[in-house]
Amino acid sequence: MRDPNCIFCKIVEDKVPSVKVYEDEHAVAFLDIAPLANGHTLVIPRNHAHKIEDLSETDNRGVWELVRIVVPRLTEAMAAEGMTVAVNNGEAAGQEVHHVHVHLIPRRRDDGYGPIHSLFKGRRPEVTIPELEAIVHRIRAI
Ligand code: AMP
Ligand code: ZN
Repeated sequence: MRDPNCIFCKIVEDKVPSVKVYEDEHAVAFLDIAPLANGHTLVIPRNHAHKIEDLSETDNRGVWELVRIVVPRLTEAMAAEGMTVAVNNGEAAGQEVHHVHVHLIPRRRDDGYGPIHSLFKGRRPEVTIPELEAIVHRIRAI
């Protein structure tokens, strides 16, 4: 299923220019137009879905399988030392394009960006196991 107004659906169908890295039956990997690092790649399902929770099981498996296939190749091609693999899921988390995409960002030890944890200024202290259990009760109650 495609959304005719979605830029990534148009990329899937080659209706707008893109540079594809790899594609298969369920998912497509292509280079980000405004890369955060050389080789910044996006992996998307062929079918339109806004967020992870909107993916069919098949499309979800397809996306993450393509992530698994592309990561080592991209790492080698970019001579990267690691890879940040990230999803901005929902606008509040920074999602601008409403078609699920996994960011693959080649990393080097000396690139100065740090871990995803550095997004959250001022690390919070460790919490207690009972505090974590209170959270998990809320999750399991749904
Ligand atoms: P997000 O903020 O997680 O929704 O990320 C959207 C990403 O899509 C950004 O990194 C953009 O640079 C990228 N992007 C937007 N339009 C295009 C396009 N036409 N081709 C390639 N990448 C795109
Ligand atoms: Zn779409």
